[in-house]
Amino acid sequence: MTVETPPARAQLIRIETDRRLGHEWDEWDGKPLPGGGDFSAQPGLFFRFAAVTIAAAMGAGAAVVFLLAPRLADVWPALPHAVWLALGAASAITWLWFGVLLLSFYGRARLLPEAWLERGPYLGLMSLTSFVARPFGKRDWVEHAAIDVYNALAERRRRTVGKGELLVLIPRCLSKEALDGVLTIAGRYEVPVFVATRGQLARRVIRERRPRAVVAVACERDMTTGLRDVAGKLPVLGLTMRLPNGPCRDAMLDLDTMERWVKTWVGL
Ligand code: SF4
Repeated sequence: MTVETPPARAQLIRIETDRRLGHEWDEWDGKPLPGGGDFSAQPGLFFRFAAVTIAAAMGAGAAVVFLLAPRLADVWPALPHAVWLALGAASAITWLWFGVLLLSFYGRARLLPEAWLERGPYLGLMSLTSFVARPFGKRDWVEHAAIDVYNALAERRRRTVGKGELLVLIPRCLSKEALDGVLTIAGRYEVPVFVATRGQLARRVIRERRPRAVVAVACERDMTTGLRDVAGKLPVLGLTMRLPNGPCRDAMLDLDTMERWVKTWVGL
């Protein structure tokens, strides 16, 4: 009797690196994140920093016009006056728009189409405000508040899509518990889930799958750039995470919110 030896199997060797930081966290010093990695903040924090951002941008514009005025006058004597008028008009329109944004958010009214509000100039304001918040050490909280405002405005549009038209994008840093929860929800509503290890990859998945809407999960830093790049072209709801073990590892998320969004969007 011959004894059959089982066919040789390749051995899979996993090399686990301790943590692979996304470039948004390059400057992390390895210390625990404040508040256990929970950057929840009131929307008012974003609006205050946004007002400072707009004022700073207008001030910078005025300084440039002031400095260039003599040169502009050399080109055409009335040019400085015309540029001041244009800057004044731009300033008035921007503050008026900001007032409408406040009214839309706090008054729960849809005063402007989405392309003129949360999927339009708002995305630019969100990014600029993030830069202004950084020297004050408030970046993550301001971004969190900005994303909350964006989501609230986007949710009120009451959009629905088909099951196959919604995509869930998750990062590589979810904890096992969070990942299991996401997969259960996605399975329940028959929605495809993709792990996007980088923003570039997320954009590629969107280009190839052509969804009509996306529920994206990421930290505040990644979400701010992701929304800026994608939300103008495609409806997105962005779920931020808690980072109890520091960035890019073991991230937790609010599964109830994710289920509510998926359920609403697939119209169940
Ligand atoms: S989403 Fe996760 S992996 Fe990506 S930068 Fe944020 S914490 Fe790191």
